[in-house]
Amino acid sequence: MNYKVAVIPGDGIGPEIVREARKVLDKVGQKYGHEFTYQELLMGGCSIDAYGEPLTEETLEAAKASDSVLLGAVGGNVGQSNWYQLPPDKRPEAGLLKIRKGLELYANIRPAVLFDELSGACPLKPELTEGGFDFVVMRELTGGLYFGDRKTVEENGVKKAIDTLTYDENEIRRIAKWGFDVAMKRGKKVCSVDKANVLDSSRLWRSVVAKDYPEVELTHMLVDNCAMQLVRDPKQFDVILTENMFGDILSDEASMVTGSIGMLSSASLGATKLGLYEPSHGSAPDLAGQDKANPIATILSAAMMLRYSFDLEKEADAIENAVKQVLKDGYRTIDIMDEGKTQVGTIQMGDLIAERI
Ligand code: NAD
Repeated sequence: MNYKVAVIPGDGIGPEIVREARKVLDKVGQKYGHEFTYQELLMGGCSIDAYGEPLTEETLEAAKASDSVLLGAVGGNVGQSNWYQLPPDKRPEAGLLKIRKGLELYANIRPAVLFDELSGACPLKPELTEGGFDFVVMRELTGGLYFGDRKTVEENGVKKAIDTLTYDENEIRRIAKWGFDVAMKRGKKVCSVDKANVLDSSRLWRSVVAKDYPEVELTHMLVDNCAMQLVRDPKQFDVILTENMFGDILSDEASMVTGSIGMLSSASLGATKLGLYEPSHGSAPDLAGQDKANPIATILSAAMMLRYSFDLEKEADAIENAVKQVLKDGYRTIDIMDEGKTQVGTIQMGDLIAERI
């Protein structure tokens, strides 16, 4: 089977980490008899330099025509780069918003995985995280408070700001479906998070996130409780399903409890199988070109692409197991380095993971 992958290395460490993910994908292809063909596209600062804008229509069309998109990261050093003299809609990060919108991606998945071998990086007490944890935050990406009408008015000399939080049942149903589909490929548990004791939008959310998947255990939790449970007992979660703003906050909290930014992958999905897969971190300009960046978040994002866009389950497992094995064998990039371990660079980390596929 041939899969057409649009590859967007981007800026900073982007090209280095994407190169390692391709190396691992190629090894998967060899081993399991698939062919991945790549089309390299420019987005972010490098696209500004080449075309004067962070994402051209041609690039967007090429991404749409692919089976899936693998992205590194975009952006430069905000204090120093000329890209940040441009108006906000012409800066590198504007490319990200435009591609997510152009590909009609409305579901964002951010896994929070604590590998047992990296438990030292987790800020929680060891007894809470023994054996590691592995859950995902599934966040609705295109509705809610961030996209509702807003205005600031003045009444009787007093300024008043109004933001509106809107969801319709179709928006809720389509993200819930992704939540359940992802749970079916994982631990078959969905915890839907809302504020149904206060908000109408949450009451609608709760009524729509119904139990159409008899094999999946569905629970509901209030967002304030969820924020506490994430640091009290993160092992209880499999899929946390929630609306845009709650997901924004909870996914950052969840990534903090893992403690290692270079390890965290992410995926954005829409109505079709085409998804956008990228590490959760940025372009780390401080590390660019030094063979120091941790490529694991990008490699794990490629594994998610195999699982969610291509339904290649055992191939995705092979990548995840190879990452675990490399950690078990004691290899670390500088960001996750620990006493008694062997420090390796970006390229060697990619080689070690590819060897273990
Ligand atoms: P960042 O995630 O790039 O870096 C934060 C810190 O984490 C830095 O110390 C960096 O060295 C480290 N780090 C990040 N990724 C790492 C990796 N793979 N291995 C080892 N260490 C890693 O965030 P920032 O410094 O706030 O932003 C830098 C640039 O990235 C900015 O231009 C920002 O706008 C952009 N950015 C892009 C995205 C994206 O493309 N999705 C996301 C966030 C930030």
